[in-house]
Amino acid sequence: MIFEHLDTYGHEQVVFCHNKDVGLKAIIAIHNTVLGPALGGTRMWPYKTEQDALNDVLRLSRGMTYKNAVAGLNIGGGKAVIIGDPAKDKSEGLFRAFGQFVESLGGRYITAEDVGIDVNDMEFVYRETEYVTGVHQVHGGSGDPSPFTAYGTMQGLLATLNKKYGNEEVGNYSYAVQGLGHVGMEFVKLLKERGAKIFVTDINQALVDRAVDEFGAEAVGLDEIYDVNADVYSPCALGGTVNEDTLPRLKAKVICGAANNQLANNAIGDELTKRGIVYAPDYAVNAGGVMNVSLEIDGYNRERAMRMMRTIYHNLTRIFEIADRDGIPTYKAADRLAEERIEVIGKLKLPMGRGTPRFQGRVRGH
Ligand code: NAD
Repeated sequence: MIFEHLDTYGHEQVVFCHNKDVGLKAIIAIHNTVLGPALGGTRMWPYKTEQDALNDVLRLSRGMTYKNAVAGLNIGGGKAVIIGDPAKDKSEGLFRAFGQFVESLGGRYITAEDVGIDVNDMEFVYRETEYVTGVHQVHGGSGDPSPFTAYGTMQGLLATLNKKYGNEEVGNYSYAVQGLGHVGMEFVKLLKERGAKIFVTDINQALVDRAVDEFGAEAVGLDEIYDVNADVYSPCALGGTVNEDTLPRLKAKVICGAANNQLANNAIGDELTKRGIVYAPDYAVNAGGVMNVSLEIDGYNRERAMRMMRTIYHNLTRIFEIADRDGIPTYKAADRLAEERIEVIGKLKLPMGRGTPRFQGRVRGH
């Protein structure tokens, strides 16, 4: 069963990590290392079954291959899951044992934070292995990626406006921003700086009040965000919000936001194209976070990070070109860009040095 799945989706390696003393049950999936070591976060979740955990890690690791390839990184795709409840099951021993498994892969897999894991947990992992990104800034890490993700989303927006309207003057258009968390609020700030009309919503009223007071946004109800008269819908909260129910209501002609997995399914992506709505593929737009942590590998530098975020504009432009070239929806064109890049760069047969992470300028220990 497992090998059949690995065969279908092309995974290279799956590692089951077990340590009875500390209660560790984890799975590391390395999907593809053609472009470089596999990078992807570790998720801690109380999976109902081991099969659920396996399915999740296989799906997510494959997604990282595509995301990292489209981002133009010399990095492959991987992911890890720890089976457990983040509220109850965390311990130093658990994360250190996990870190030893990451270390045992010798840099083929580099981890980072994901759902259920915070920077303190990563400190323990980091005691056992260097192959961790997103470590605290005191160690030379990159810190909170959200402002970079928001800035990268802005670059994606410029390219998408250009595609739809042949004009990327952000202030000429109106925006419906769903979610005012770490990324959403920063994105609203960037929109405001460019003179845009902004509608906002969030389940957290304090965040809505802040967007209204500080950035002159107009507050709308949680469900109303799908009905407002905005040119751009920008999902920055949950996945799956572009679906059969919301699509007929959306007035926007552009969808561009930071949330993961925005489309409920592929049929919705096809329908967007039919309706003339330009969808900026989520994983290309929100690559700022992974770009930022990837820079830790050869010495983190803020200027380089900002420069790298601007490449998101070109990645999106390339995706739109492929969509036009092949007559396919943009979500498919993003996957095709990833596959083409892996194919071409893979054939260059890069020297092994490329596959060995260096981690310069970081300091381990306290
Ligand atoms: P966050 O948790 O800080 O913010 C999410 C916000 O959405 C919260 O304020 C929450 O109250 C709000 N929200 C939740 N449900 C909502 C609903 N039904 N309607 C309106 N608002 C709702 O998360 P974040 O770091 O800002 O990330 C936002 C999205 O971007 C997520 O999907 C995340 O996976 C994705 N993303 C983030 C980064 C990053 O660098 N932080 C990178 C890549 C992708």
